[in-house]
Amino acid sequence: MPEGDTIFRAARTLHRALAGHVVTRFDTAYAPLARVHDDTPITGRTIDAVEAHGKHMVMRFSGDVTGPLALRTHMRMHGSWHIYRPGERWQRPPRDMRIVVGTADFVAVAFNVPDAEFERGTDVGRRDAIAALGPDLLSPDFDAAEAVRRLRDRAGVPIAEALLDQRALAGIGNVFKSEVLFAGGVLPQALVETVPDDTLARLVDIARRQLAVNVSDATPSFGRRTTGRMAVAEGLWVYGRGGRPCRRCATPIAFARQGLGARPTYWCPRCQQGSPPLQQEPRKPPGR
Ligand SMILES: [Zn+2]
Repeated sequence: MPEGDTIFRAARTLHRALAGHVVTRFDTAYAPLARVHDDTPITGRTIDAVEAHGKHMVMRFSGDVTGPLALRTHMRMHGSWHIYRPGERWQRPPRDMRIVVGTADFVAVAFNVPDAEFERGTDVGRRDAIAALGPDLLSPDFDAAEAVRRLRDRAGVPIAEALLDQRALAGIGNVFKSEVLFAGGVLPQALVETVPDDTLARLVDIARRQLAVNVSDATPSFGRRTTGRMAVAEGLWVYGRGGRPCRRCATPIAFARQGLGARPTYWCPRCQQGSPPLQQEPRKPPGR
């Protein structure tokens, strides 16, 4: 599943290719989008910006007599945006095409994007699905205190699931969930109410730094990394490493399916056992 860093990279790539250019081609497999194009054509408009909002991508178009438009898409499990030169062979079959936005120099193609809609006006991104998002880890005005507050609201929820809740904070997917908790030394099953404020704040800070590294132009786009090691095989602390030795203490990495959708969670039973901090009263390890 695409995570916040993937969408951020995709939006940035599209923005660099498309922003400031006039749309010369628009195609879509979705009737509601085609109807908007029929009524108020997308061709002839300028692409003002392509932005990531959590896991949503927003492509903003300049106005005609009816005002500006924005195309909001969400990748869900299998969606993706590609960018091609006109005439270049697509890497996915045409039947997977959902939306095409072309300029003189580039063709942006959305494949298997299940969630797409046009919104009118300039306040797109502040409404509906996007307005419900928590603070965006990749936004320059990310509000860490607000993210901690929203996590705190999920008192009875295991921390791993709270971190995935995009209404608490936006950008963490299943890979970063496990990686952030390892780096923070917190068990995925720990209920939020048992995690002290400073630990929550540290997790938020770690998440922000891990995502930032993964959208840096200096980081190759293949393979995520949270360990600071460049070798792809050593890029992650725990995710996908069930049964293999912890990179810090050599304890076999544990694996379980957790929460909504039974998503895989990985952790080190030793490195993450001390959470919340050891100076606290002993307590029953939740969920284990
Ligand atoms: Zn360990």
